[in-house]
Amino acid sequence: MNDPNEKLTEIAKQVRTCQRCALHTTRKNSVPGEGRANTDVMFIGEGPGYHENEQGRPFVGQAGKFLAELLHAANLARENVFITNVVKCRPPSNRDPEPGELATCNEFLEQQIEAINPRVIVTLGRFSMGKFLPLARISEAHGKPVWVKDRLIVPMYHPAAALHQPKLKPTLLHDFSCLPEVIRKAVEAHEAAKPAPVKTPENKESHPAEEAKQMDLF
Ligand code: URA
Repeated sequence: MNDPNEKLTEIAKQVRTCQRCALHTTRKNSVPGEGRANTDVMFIGEGPGYHENEQGRPFVGQAGKFLAELLHAANLARENVFITNVVKCRPPSNRDPEPGELATCNEFLEQQIEAINPRVIVTLGRFSMGKFLPLARISEAHGKPVWVKDRLIVPMYHPAAALHQPKLKPTLLHDFSCLPEVIRKAVEAHEAAKPAPVKTPENKESHPAEEAKQMDLF
């Protein structure tokens, strides 16, 4: 199965019926994530809240409303990116996800990242940031892109944090407004690292894309 759309559909199917951790006993709907499979940018939040659990879609409550504003500041359309969470089922009373739940659900997230192969991953909040940058502190790391293998990871405050602490709102808006330049740089670096097309004996050009993916960019 090579089509990323098909892969995401298959992962979503498994997430919808998943019973691998206790969160399935309290959920109404699991939330696999949604958006474009063929995108340069993936957003990863924490986990479904009340409205996401009701609807089975990510970021559709108050935090989602602010995320829409932030995407606008970044000149991004929601339908052109992929949005998901580190855990796909709502932790009861919106408590923090537990290490075992994060570890169990990580397999789905890894599969989604592999299917999409985004140039940029924007982490929303500390649980998502912790997956890629376990030692970082959000107060220092926010808005600063970091190369992890061949992707740029951009840690952001969680949009819900600005709903509780309004002084974070301009910070988030500023960090998101820098995303177009970050994405441009990540895409450019990836293109620059691609090996030139080679001529095959039949005089046809071939593009060894798999080799490009494995090249060390830095
Ligand atoms: N908060 C998250 O982290 N994810 C959602 O989908 C909604 C709120």
